[in-house]
Amino acid sequence: MASAREALHGVFGFSGFRGMQEPVVARVLSGLSTLAVMPTGAGKSLTYQLPATMLDGTCIVISPLIALMHDQLRAATANGIRAATLTSADADREETIERFRAGDLDLLYVAPERASQDHFRRLLESARVSLFAIDEAHCVSEWGHDFRPDYRLLRPLMDAFPHVPRLALTATADAHTRADILVQLGIAEDGLVVAGFDRPNIRYAIRPRDSLLRQLQALLDEEPGPGIVYAPTRAQVERIAEKLDSGSRPVLPYHAGLDPAVRAANQAAFVASENMVIVATVAFGMGIDKPDVRFVAHAGLPKSIEAYYQETGRAGRDGDPAVALMLWGADDFARARQRLSEVERARLPGERARIDALAALAETAQCRRRVLLKHFGEDPPQACGNCDNCLDPPESADATEAARKLLSAVYRTGQS
Ligand code: ADP
Ligand code: MG
Repeated sequence: MASAREALHGVFGFSGFRGMQEPVVARVLSGLSTLAVMPTGAGKSLTYQLPATMLDGTCIVISPLIALMHDQLRAATANGIRAATLTSADADREETIERFRAGDLDLLYVAPERASQDHFRRLLESARVSLFAIDEAHCVSEWGHDFRPDYRLLRPLMDAFPHVPRLALTATADAHTRADILVQLGIAEDGLVVAGFDRPNIRYAIRPRDSLLRQLQALLDEEPGPGIVYAPTRAQVERIAEKLDSGSRPVLPYHAGLDPAVRAANQAAFVASENMVIVATVAFGMGIDKPDVRFVAHAGLPKSIEAYYQETGRAGRDGDPAVALMLWGADDFARARQRLSEVERARLPGERARIDALAALAETAQCRRRVLLKHFGEDPPQACGNCDNCLDPPESADATEAARKLLSAVYRTGQS
């Protein structure tokens, strides 16, 4: 694929493809529809942006958020790619439409709502479309964690252009969601490409919570670098941030209830710091690029196994050793299941399964990495050598056995 490599170098200035980028790009260039499941940060955008610069016509990119589109637009334009967004927030829509019709755009970003509009379909018919790229494609599935009904309008639109290949992209990988995305977007089963989810430098550890502050303190003493402690509520964030005594190390809170200026300042301080601990709700972390985070601790349950993967994945992006510690309480799982309302249960059938998968990960005496990666469809070795269960096998540990029994009891009550 000499020309794709040339474009990779010439347009993006990168020396090589990463992970599964190359096979995905090759499929797109051969006109094959594809669902690419790759972890966050793996470089999914490039898999449509690069073909978009090589193919005749314009790649239509479906993206769920205007803010996300504008980020992508900035980055693409900075690389000299001819790109535009077509949203209600854009004043230059007429100009964009003219550029599109004139074949002067590589990429056109639109929101899924637009796909249902007749005049948008007619607009596509009046121009040349090279590719449909559907970013955050799990939004099309009720099994996904972020269902957006408007994504269901994409299939009828794309079916009107049967010769245009489709590239769906997501970091969400459970088997149900994947299979559903393929159906909902009309992509053949053999169009699935899954990239490795393993983060070998992260050491996973999951323990019952006995004395939260003491357990967090021990982690802080062990890991002097920057770290994130996730807590389920604002009140818990405040309490932990106040009570953690980290000596000379700064500890700051982050949650949606803080004054926006304070929140921004705390985030900026964390990004710049070499030893700060930020205690945060899940509001923290999205879009933050800090490669040297040395630990991510969960003081309570993440929302799902996907959320656990994503949140722990913020540790060790520089490839150096990092720790993911989750501390769970006896009734966390029961409460998580109760929180799912009847409506959610009916509308989001995958939600319950995701909590169950998280419980299985917490309960297992096997390699954590193996259980985690198996959830994402991989078949890793029996033992990774870099998780608590591999490093300190629990068979003999009474405490762990007791914890497992307790958790099993909680399961049963949680079922009701
Ligand atoms: P994703 O959407 O999968 O989370 P992005 O497309 O946002 O990831 O890419 C993440 C980062 O990786 C970006 O900064 C991008 O420029 C960079 N990147 C992508 N592909 C490569 C590559 N082949 N070589 C080096 N950096 C890359
Ligand atoms: Mg992306």
